[in-house]
Amino acid sequence: MEAIQFHPTAIFPAGILVTEGCRGDGGLLLDVNLHRFMPDYEPEKKELASRDVVSRWMETHIAKGYGVKSRFGEHLWLDIRLLGEHHINTKLREVKEICQYFLGIDPVKELIPVRPAQHYSMGGIRTNHQGQAPSLLGLYSCGEAACWDLHGFNRLGGNSVAETVVAGMIVGEYMADFLTSDESNINISSSLITDFHQKEQNKLTAFHHPDNTENPFEIMHEMQNIMTNNVAIFSNKTQLDEAITQLKALHIRAKKIRVQTKVKGTNPELVAAYRVQKMLKLALCTAYGALQREESRGAHNRADFPLRNDKEWLNRTLATWPSEQDELPTLDYEAIKVETMEMPPNSRGYGAKDRIEHPDTPVRLEEVASIKKAQPITTNNTAQTKDILQKKLMPYKHLLPEIFRGKNARLSDED
Ligand SMILES: Cc1cc2nc3c(=O)[nH]c(=O)nc-3n(C[C@H](O)[C@H](O)[C@H](O)COP(=O)(O)OP(=O)(O)OC[C@H]3O[C@@H](n4cnc5c(N)ncnc54)[C@H](O)[C@@H]3O)c2cc1C
Repeated sequence: MEAIQFHPTAIFPAGILVTEGCRGDGGLLLDVNLHRFMPDYEPEKKELASRDVVSRWMETHIAKGYGVKSRFGEHLWLDIRLLGEHHINTKLREVKEICQYFLGIDPVKELIPVRPAQHYSMGGIRTNHQGQAPSLLGLYSCGEAACWDLHGFNRLGGNSVAETVVAGMIVGEYMADFLTSDESNINISSSLITDFHQKEQNKLTAFHHPDNTENPFEIMHEMQNIMTNNVAIFSNKTQLDEAITQLKALHIRAKKIRVQTKVKGTNPELVAAYRVQKMLKLALCTAYGALQREESRGAHNRADFPLRNDKEWLNRTLATWPSEQDELPTLDYEAIKVETMEMPPNSRGYGAKDRIEHPDTPVRLEEVASIKKAQPITTNNTAQTKDILQKKLMPYKHLLPEIFRGKNARLSDED
């Protein structure tokens, strides 16, 4: 859960994203002096460096005193004026509308105030390749809610749609199979259901207990501040320790929430009260996972451990919360197998040496190189030869539902 992506260009202060396409098409990031600063930090990739990298440099640049001050805090500028009115009105129309509705500005003529904002959770419900949670028979998950291993620690732009489409197709098939199999004849005792129902009902009733005094919105707001200040784009041990202490205290306070609004039907206060206790558990999973992970990997950045450490941390954090009385989640780790990868973890192309290598990486790199040498990829490859190569590099087709085991080929490939 510590792998949380920040998107560089959320409009400030509303926090609504404007697409990466702005920078992809040639938009620039400027500071308070209207200086284009990204080439100073990333001379090669400039504004097109990956999301986590751009977000970190933006925050670094603001911390150096180059942010634009406003009554809502500091920000930087996104300049898409150079793309011209026609391009903005046709290719980036949504951006124009967001700027008009939420900022009252026209990006054809004006600069867009931006600052990185929390965007996407790479973590989620752990599933196997079929989308089934290993810990609860019949629980399936896919898309942003799942940890299905498509993204690793840093989702690339556009890959969420790829995941929802691909995982939806595969996991949906496996779910349907499960529902028609004997395995899905789960016997659950009715007392388990009534006990659970009673427990949840008790929680709702407790929200009206006269001894309770805490306001759910205040607790949520405090949680947001703790996460933004101590667990966001940069963090270190001191900040994370502090965040965990504060979150634990909030978690205890959240058990004393009082809901004032008693209306039946839509009740935002009740929704906030019911959700914030669970949100605090997730916040603790994120902060505690980040504290334990003494390295910097993708979206997770530890100022006190700047290198990616594949030797010790090429693994996935599994957080569970065995008892309601627990103050912290229980963390466990699951190793990632380098020998199963077509592309073992290598340099990301930022900085001279950004990692401590896993001992299996050079072995697998050599293996992949020799497989490719024996089966070279050329423009004349037929679907057949590509299929052979794929089988040698990634022999996992049997893990797909039967109907998706066809050749991985383009329509234009010769058979
Ligand atoms: C502003 C923005 C721009 C983005 N741009 C891109 C992009 O360009 N490319 C890209 O790949 N990704 C992009 N993403 C990410 C991507 O859109 C999401 O990750 C993706 O849509 C998630 O799909 P999902 O189906 O997994 O979840 P969701 O779309 O969040 O669907 C979950 C559904 O579950 C429903 N739900 C929740 N709780 C319950 C409940 N208790 N009972 C019943 N229903 C419930 C919700 O109402 C919702 O309809 C963007 C995200 C944002 C916020």
